[in-house]
Amino acid sequence: MSAGRRLATALAAAAVIVSPTLVVAGPAGAVPSTPSVEGRTPDSGVSTRDVQPLAPPAPLVRSTPDSARAVAAKAARRPLFAFWGRKYNRLDGFGFTTAVRGSGTGIQLQAAWKTYRGVKPILPKKVFVQARVDGGKWTRVSGARGKIGRTLVTARIPAHVVPAGVVAQNVDYRLKTKKITKGPRKARRSVASDRVTVRFENQAMYTGEQARFYAPIANLCPNASVTIDTTGITEDHTGVFDWQYGITIDAATLATLTREPEVSKLGISIHECAHAKQFYNWGGTNQDWSTLVARSAEVFVADNNPDPNVATVPMAPEWSPLEHAADCAKELISPERYRTYGGYCNAAEYAAAGLLWQNQRY
Ligand SMILES: [Zn+2]
Repeated sequence: MSAGRRLATALAAAAVIVSPTLVVAGPAGAVPSTPSVEGRTPDSGVSTRDVQPLAPPAPLVRSTPDSARAVAAKAARRPLFAFWGRKYNRLDGFGFTTAVRGSGTGIQLQAAWKTYRGVKPILPKKVFVQARVDGGKWTRVSGARGKIGRTLVTARIPAHVVPAGVVAQNVDYRLKTKKITKGPRKARRSVASDRVTVRFENQAMYTGEQARFYAPIANLCPNASVTIDTTGITEDHTGVFDWQYGITIDAATLATLTREPEVSKLGISIHECAHAKQFYNWGGTNQDWSTLVARSAEVFVADNNPDPNVATVPMAPEWSPLEHAADCAKELISPERYRTYGGYCNAAEYAAAGLLWQNQRY
């Protein structure tokens, strides 16, 4: 009897796992920066900034009952199926609930669910996705459906395209259940999750530095966003690909590097675009990333040019298979090597890197 009333929380121990292999290799402060290599690495390592692991939610504890009847009445009104709050939502598998994306990008939305009704919950037949643009009216997103898993409802949301002439749109997404038709009458309800918010930027409207750094990747990463900022860009790097904010370029620092040729500066965008391809070609979510990391290590290796007459650029301390892949991909488009993590791109690596540009996995 009491067991039936006991709460069964669906979210037992959900925590976002951030792949530890993505942390920039080596202690940041330990590497002495010598003038000869300063500013020469293309970017910061793919960033885990703002990706906070989620603590599992505390189990719902019923407050001390005034009377058995009051408790029963309250319990009867509880929904059969409900969502945890916003901080347990996930965007592309990460713990953040806001993001910047380029027009033409889709996202994955996840919301943690719970039930108040025993161990075998009554589930809604369907979970829809709703969106609202710039705070407008919630409308159903066609072609998107939530799939109820053990702890999370997951929905893959089709690409959002910002209309021509509009600079950017803020789109909120949430999950909404079809009304349950079974169980106690008062508890039959349609419930909505809390939202996640994505700022979609219209690349065609980019001006100034954004247009400058988007231009070299317009055909390679047409759906990418380019943010001009210094946030998340560490040490002497000038660019980053970040899961929350996409490609970010430190244009202010680049402006001070007057001796660096423009082709090298623009190469940073191409290198970051290659990271974006790594992310999206492997599924575009945190869950898919570990496969890419393992695969990169198999293909991209620390080797030297076998030709004794050609010196190999020494490998930077931050060299990694993921970075080498982005370097080789960039060299296929723009072969100068002013900025590089060093090493040598062999034929197999170039072939694999080339697959990135064809939206394929290596
Ligand atoms: Zn990189």
